[in-house]
Amino acid sequence: MKKIRTVTGDVPVDRMGVTLTHEHLLYTYPGGEHDHRSSYVLEDAVARISAELKAGMDAYGYGTLVDMTPAEVGRNPELMRRVAERTGANIIAVSGFFPERMGIPYWFRRQSVDELTDFYYRDLTEGMVFAGAATGIKAGAIKIATGQESVHPAPSPMGPNGRRIHQYEDRLIRAAARAQRKTLCCINTHTDPMDYTVTNPGVEQLEILEEEGADLGKVIVGHAFVEPRGVEQIEAIVRRGATVQVDHIGIPWRFDGDEGLDESMAGLMQVLADKGYMDQMVITYDRWFFNPRGPATQENPQLLNQGVGLGYIFETFVPRLRGKGFTDADVHRMMVENPRRLLSMDSL
Ligand SMILES: [Zn+2]
Repeated sequence: MKKIRTVTGDVPVDRMGVTLTHEHLLYTYPGGEHDHRSSYVLEDAVARISAELKAGMDAYGYGTLVDMTPAEVGRNPELMRRVAERTGANIIAVSGFFPERMGIPYWFRRQSVDELTDFYYRDLTEGMVFAGAATGIKAGAIKIATGQESVHPAPSPMGPNGRRIHQYEDRLIRAAARAQRKTLCCINTHTDPMDYTVTNPGVEQLEILEEEGADLGKVIVGHAFVEPRGVEQIEAIVRRGATVQVDHIGIPWRFDGDEGLDESMAGLMQVLADKGYMDQMVITYDRWFFNPRGPATQENPQLLNQGVGLGYIFETFVPRLRGKGFTDADVHRMMVENPRRLLSMDSL
């Protein structure tokens, strides 16, 4: 049987259960690990995150979660491992970085595609490094990311290779493809909503991955539904064999609380399902369980990712999908069966 690689070991895919493909147990920004205001006590954070996750697992059957926190964004393998042990959740960590405008430390900007490939490969096969120390805790997927920062959202300028993807991002995407060829792991991506106004950032990522021989059938393009521009752009992604991630459900991101967003996403999903792409959709939040900057408030809209509850998908969004003709079997396909196929690390 195929297996996923979690922070507590390799697990057969039939033990995955309902899977969230893009979440964050702990989330900060590069540099936050040096700031007094965002310091935390590991055991307190583990207790708080575990309590919330376990309640969600008990109520809604979540079994597996991909922690999409990149290496330079406070990724803490030990925290993930302790939460997994305490809750029984399958937690998949990722190897990878933020977009270049927000992350990719200088250390990594100096590295070649081969060196970066080796970084991903060692994260996946030997274990991740935290604050200079080898942890032995392995990543189980790769994250790639492109686009601008969120303080002044704007489309990305044209990059050096005729795409709106910049030189270090380009290098990391090529390395991700090469590491995927060695490990047969999943690649999960961050695209920027604003970039859909000037290009199709999902397709741009897929083009580079394809140039390096990646298996697009094991690629999830994230945030492609966040600011829907019409079904054509999303269809262009699934036509190439990749999966699109329906995310930010219940979380307004670069929206002013647009209540029509759920309806618009559900409508696009219906169109894709009618065209035969049910196997190429997954559903998740992109929420964070704990942000050491403080709790979510209306005054801190950047913290709203923490404000949506783990029940929102099943209590609010799934009923909307049912209204559009989706069955419970369809939801099972998108939240259990598709993640099994995508997240299994097929070299295991
Ligand atoms: Zn995220």
